[in-house]
Amino acid sequence: MYEHALKRMTVTEGFEVLIDRERLKKRVSELAAEISADYQNRRPLLVVVLKGSFIFAADLVRELDIEHVIDFIAIGSYGSAQRSSGAVRLLKDLNHNIEGQDVIIVEDIVDSGLTLGYIYASFQARRPNTLEIVALLDKSWNGDSDLNIKYKGFEIPDRFVIGYGLDLDEQYRGLPFIAYPKENEESL
Ligand code: 5GP
Repeated sequence: MYEHALKRMTVTEGFEVLIDRERLKKRVSELAAEISADYQNRRPLLVVVLKGSFIFAADLVRELDIEHVIDFIAIGSYGSAQRSSGAVRLLKDLNHNIEGQDVIIVEDIVDSGLTLGYIYASFQARRPNTLEIVALLDKSWNGDSDLNIKYKGFEIPDRFVIGYGLDLDEQYRGLPFIAYPKENEESL
């Protein structure tokens, strides 16, 4: 069902493109269709994890054809280390009380799964009616993360990516595709 090996790559203006805008658009529509079908008449609360998920979330909600509510949380920055430290700081909490709500966490990318694991556990403690995850990219599929990602865009190789909301030191979030950084910047 998911693409395990995304090997088709092209070089666009110095970026090695992993997933181009057409494939992103198609997959985001498919995820929105799945969510819309599953949440008919339920009005889920979509929790967008800032900052990286903002473009994915903006595209996703515009493809939903069900009523929904949006909230945002912000967590500690990834910095320039290109690896999650696992230490998650909650910089901005929800504005909504999620008790009894159908909650969907909207995440850009799962690497070790530590960030989502932390968010998931802290939300679970607030007693939502249901709690699911939609993640555009998953690098954890080959590891031992026990997160249950119900809606998943693409399984990708374990390599640092930028674009479509994802940054490298706050740059490149506006790229309309997912790409590997240029050789010289990747080693930062
Ligand atoms: P995890 O806690 O799953 O190891 O890391 C998840 C977070 O690390 C993501 O929300 C994202 O902020 C950041 N991250 C993980 N992999 C990448 C990547 O390839 N590119 C970018 N820009 N951020 C990443």
